[in-house]
Amino acid sequence: MMQKIVIIGAGPAGLLLAHYLLARGHYQVEIYERRPDPRRVKQSDQRVFPISLQARGMSAIRAIPGLEAALSEKGVWAKGVFLHRSKGQPRKIERKTPQLLIERNQLTLALLQHLLAGYGGEALTITFDCACVGINQDSQTVTLQPTAGEPFTVRFDRLVGADGVRSQVREALVASGDMHCQQELVPQRYKPLFVSRVSQDKTIELAADCIHRWDLGKRALVLMTPQRGDRLSGIVIFLPGINPLELFTTDEAVLAYFQAKCPSLGQVMTLENTADLRQRPVSKLITVKCDRMHVGDRILLIGDAVHAVTPSISQGCNASLQDVMVFAQQLDQFQDDWSQTLPAFTAQRLPDVHALRDLSDYCFPLSKLMIPEFLFRVTLGRKLNHWFPQLFKPFPLELIVDGDLPYSEVLKQCQGWINRVRRSAPPQLKSSKA
Ligand SMILES: Cc1cc2nc3c(=O)[nH]c(=O)nc-3n(C[C@H](O)[C@H](O)[C@H](O)COP(=O)(O)OP(=O)(O)OC[C@H]3O[C@@H](n4cnc5c(N)ncnc54)[C@H](O)[C@@H]3O)c2cc1C
Repeated sequence: MMQKIVIIGAGPAGLLLAHYLLARGHYQVEIYERRPDPRRVKQSDQRVFPISLQARGMSAIRAIPGLEAALSEKGVWAKGVFLHRSKGQPRKIERKTPQLLIERNQLTLALLQHLLAGYGGEALTITFDCACVGINQDSQTVTLQPTAGEPFTVRFDRLVGADGVRSQVREALVASGDMHCQQELVPQRYKPLFVSRVSQDKTIELAADCIHRWDLGKRALVLMTPQRGDRLSGIVIFLPGINPLELFTTDEAVLAYFQAKCPSLGQVMTLENTADLRQRPVSKLITVKCDRMHVGDRILLIGDAVHAVTPSISQGCNASLQDVMVFAQQLDQFQDDWSQTLPAFTAQRLPDVHALRDLSDYCFPLSKLMIPEFLFRVTLGRKLNHWFPQLFKPFPLELIVDGDLPYSEVLKQCQGWINRVRRSAPPQLKSSKA
């Protein structure tokens, strides 16, 4: 008899889990998503920001035949990062393994299209514009509220909360006392920015195979990733109260600011880009830390719903996709007996996602005093680590981005650096209760 799995949320984690479960051949999957069907929504109305996928996320993707090719068609492969300076040539940091740069809406679209191409009929149904508003564990039902229409309930054999940082599934479980969760508001704010990679007169172009980073001072920075169609998609990050964009009242002044602070970006930016940037709302970031990733033998939580982190080391989505692969390995081990798989999954995965939280919060220096050491470790220190691995420890980012060592193992190897960054954090960079 087919088990009915209800997945709440058609983000990267929920959609990839549907791929994995359907490939096993004995599950019926129903997905409910609060937002509209991305195939029918204009790009300009979608939530767009770039995601970089590395070894962890990509190995979860590669297990599904054809999925890596489908994602590659919508993204761009990058080999490293250019650290731009206001004067002189940028510094290039090469990565050992290429990473896929893809906008979140394109990632979910590719996952969705590939899923629908492979499955349909009774095995898979996806309902958009339909939010989970409550769960009842006794009757094994979820209450759903369509954007237009009356609420209704559906029965589940197993329920998966893949509904992101503001998860309703998690909230219901916290309210019933079945799990504990800490949510924190990250001090940094961000705004998405989109520009062309090539200047309007076609004389200047920024590299298509690298991430670009500019430091704006006062803890503000710009991160841009190349995308299909010669576009750069990225974000401007800043602390509240010292948002550099608030210093100016016209689009011309904002453009002049970028041209002075980061000339290489200013050369490809247009007045239209700055007008769009100024109009976009400021976004906040919330982190989530839970004491478990399952409840009982019927409910699983994956992705941001159970371990949202800051995008500082580009791991949130990689970890969410890896959750799915780790969960499937546990299903293999326990022959799809969820009552054994769920606790084994929490036992294996929770230490890693807790370690990821520390790595995300404290990988980069938070005080000026640690910047010289940081610069040494990502340049000469890298070479010294290569030649004398016993004497010179790798910088945490190398272990996070270029391999798939478990996050808890990375943390163990880099605990000294992480502790020092944590101790040096000034009060304005500490998260507050969300
Ligand atoms: C600016 C920025 C840059 C980032 N860059 C990177 C990066 O470079 N690399 C990386 O690995 N990660 C990155 N991340 C993190 C990454 O976006 C998330 O970790 C990832 O999207 C998590 O996937 P998810 O499926 O768990 O959750 P989500 O992507 O949040 O998807 C959850 C889905 O559930 C739906 N939903 C929510 N509530 C309900 C409900 N009640 N009922 C039904 N559906 C619901 C939502 O509409 C959404 O579609 C970045 C994040 C930000 C904000």
